[in-house]
Amino acid sequence: GDVIVTDNLWKTYEMGDQQVHALRGVNLRIRHNEYVAIMGPSGSGKSTLMNLIGCLDSPSQGKYWLNGHDVSQLNDDQLARIRNKEIGFVFQTFNLLARATSLHNVELPLIYNGTPAAERIARAKDVLESVNLGSRMMHKPNELSGGQRQRVAIARALVNRPSIILADEPTGNLDSKTGDEIMALFDDLHAKGNTIVLVTHEPDIAEYAHRVVTIRDGVIASDHVSSRMLNKQ
Ligand code: ADP
Ligand code: ADP
Repeated sequence: GDVIVTDNLWKTYEMGDQQVHALRGVNLRIRHNEYVAIMGPSGSGKSTLMNLIGCLDSPSQGKYWLNGHDVSQLNDDQLARIRNKEIGFVFQTFNLLARATSLHNVELPLIYNGTPAAERIARAKDVLESVNLGSRMMHKPNELSGGQRQRVAIARALVNRPSIILADEPTGNLDSKTGDEIMALFDDLHAKGNTIVLVTHEPDIAEYAHRVVTIRDGVIASDHVSSRMLNKQ
């Protein structure tokens, strides 16, 4: 089925008496278990689109259906609830709690939705093991390498079994070898049935995806199967 469907999505920022049209009619459909990279130059609207897809913000005009539910008209509380349930975020800067262990960082989304402690710990441990951090559960972020920190963040994104993993420049703070390891992990997650949407300005990273959508001046300029997939056919 469709996980993401947008119909003529617009986002206009008001800056005093100026208007900035960051998105100008985006039509995008992403199905279950797709692996999509969203590319585009700086200022093209990638972050704005990511914020809308991730239910962090609402469109100025147009519709957005997430798993068949119209989420374009929801208030902030309703968006927060949907976001926690449906979206797993991975950021360039990891966004981990510095004072908390890996285990506690991964438990956070489950604390937010009221999962009982025993189940929370069991699920957080399972997902940390699945990203090969079984031996780092009691470490804090400053005791981990960059690659390990990003794997904690990926575990946190996965723990609620979201319908999409939304990753914004997930390798932007990593050296290229560690970045490739993280992208290999995304490949595994995709193979296990996850739907992945990756925002990046790096063509080499976008090529890990199976479909590459390019956005320019707030509209979709191209939407192609990645060269990696074409070369396989
Ligand atoms: P990208 O992520 O591709 O760099 P953005 O979505 O951040 O692009 O920005 C798209 C356009 O919207 C740019 O012109 C940017 O300056 C503008 N913009 C983004 N966020 C805001 C905001 N909060 N207020 C005003 N303008 C914004
Ligand atoms: P990875 O392969 O995940 O990137 P590294 O090879 O960078 O890991 O790290 C090797 C070992 O060094 C790991 O056991 C990690 O816990 C430890 N380590 C890396 N960076 C730091 C740090 N800043 N402080 C403490 N330990 C670290």
